[in-house]
Amino acid sequence: MAKTDNEGRKFLESVHQFFDHAASYSKLDPGILAQIKTCNSVYKVSFPVEIEGRVEVFEGIRVQHSHHKLPSKGGIRFSMQVDEDEVKALATIMTFKCAVVDVPFGGAKGGVKINPRTSSVKTLEKVTRRYAAELIKRNLIGPGMDVPAPDYGTGSREMAWIADTYQALKYGETNALGCVTGKPVGQGGIRGRAEATGLGIYYGIREAFSDTDLMKKAGIEGNTMEGKRIIVQGLGNVGYNAANFCQQDGAIIIGIAEREGGIYNSNGIDVAEAFKHRSETGSILNFGQCKNFENSADLLEEECDVLLPAALENQINADNAGRIKAKIVAEGANGPVTRDAEKILLQKGIIIIPDLYLNAGGVTVSYFEWLKNLSNVRFGRMGKRAEEASHRRLVNAIESASGKSMSTHERSLLIQGSDEISLVRSGLEDTMINAYHEVRGVMNRKDIEDMRTAAFLSAIEKIGVSYEALGIFP
Ligand code: GLU
Repeated sequence: MAKTDNEGRKFLESVHQFFDHAASYSKLDPGILAQIKTCNSVYKVSFPVEIEGRVEVFEGIRVQHSHHKLPSKGGIRFSMQVDEDEVKALATIMTFKCAVVDVPFGGAKGGVKINPRTSSVKTLEKVTRRYAAELIKRNLIGPGMDVPAPDYGTGSREMAWIADTYQALKYGETNALGCVTGKPVGQGGIRGRAEATGLGIYYGIREAFSDTDLMKKAGIEGNTMEGKRIIVQGLGNVGYNAANFCQQDGAIIIGIAEREGGIYNSNGIDVAEAFKHRSETGSILNFGQCKNFENSADLLEEECDVLLPAALENQINADNAGRIKAKIVAEGANGPVTRDAEKILLQKGIIIIPDLYLNAGGVTVSYFEWLKNLSNVRFGRMGKRAEEASHRRLVNAIESASGKSMSTHERSLLIQGSDEISLVRSGLEDTMINAYHEVRGVMNRKDIEDMRTAAFLSAIEKIGVSYEALGIFP
């Protein structure tokens, strides 16, 4: 967590250093590079909300890092630590993240200084709706303008409040639901969005394991998830889903670090059970046969194949980087590794799978949700039955040609048409695999050793194309 203003500044500096390093490989005009780097607009607002008979003033912010493509896109964070530099850093990462996975948006991020854990649901609703209204007043939110989504401290409930506020103030606008993503499925959301970031992380790590050259470098044997030892930091939506998908594919989750402490078991921890235990007892500690870590930061320094920080920024920094023993650091969170720490990790031969690629599954499925909202039709609604009829004809033809009939189970597997969830997952898997190979291609072509620099460079070159027509509007 960015604990002080200084931490927010350090985070932004770190992101700028990542950018500058990648930009040094680019042949784009330095002026264009400066434009690609800078935050295009920052809107800060204070607004009053009545809470239990008293008026309280809240501070909100929305940063639109890049308008090279519209709408701009990025989550809204609810936390007492929200500060301008932190949100700028996060908005900056969003621009490059979208470009890496070919999501046609600029980057943005927002935040409100509020503690979602100690605030009542009523307070959260009032604050969310008022913050949304402030953005609507200034034309800073809308399906073609800027489209928020969940981030740390917010979820589908807050997104539903935002969509409802927008619809109330923009009565009759056909595309209104596209003003925000990550909504509940019944309120214009899309199946598969809730777990999308975690699933994307799983696809990304799986792709890295199947990359023989990279695994040789990392000193990891075996090209699958099977038996790989993972320590995860953060059992929120991202960390939980990522760990769960990896576990379902054979990985062993040996450690889970949370705010209150960590748990470790070299034989593996059942992620779903640990999550249940934490919900029931209020703490991850004292779970089954696991060893407790009173200071969860110590758990990050244990030996493992993959360390998956999925909580907040600046978690692996110059202080602890030298003690990290993981072979791969997979960035589930945004900015968990600082630039100084990255240098140390790379020197130790540790592979870093960077945030701007690895956690892009969330915004990828947000893009699908936005497309659904603009077209006002559920994916698969028109084609599913036609697809099934065609598959059925094919299966019948195979059966009559071979003289053998299939079991009911085999038939239904072959006949099944694509519904929304299967299309979303197929789109997400394809996106994560393609982007992985694009980044690896840049590493090979440009002789770049680390994935972050290659991912940034790939994004910078794509964004640069948008500025080729610069000068039409002086
Ligand atoms: N907050 C998420 C992120 O950092 C999702 C953003 C989105 O879906 O717009 O990537």
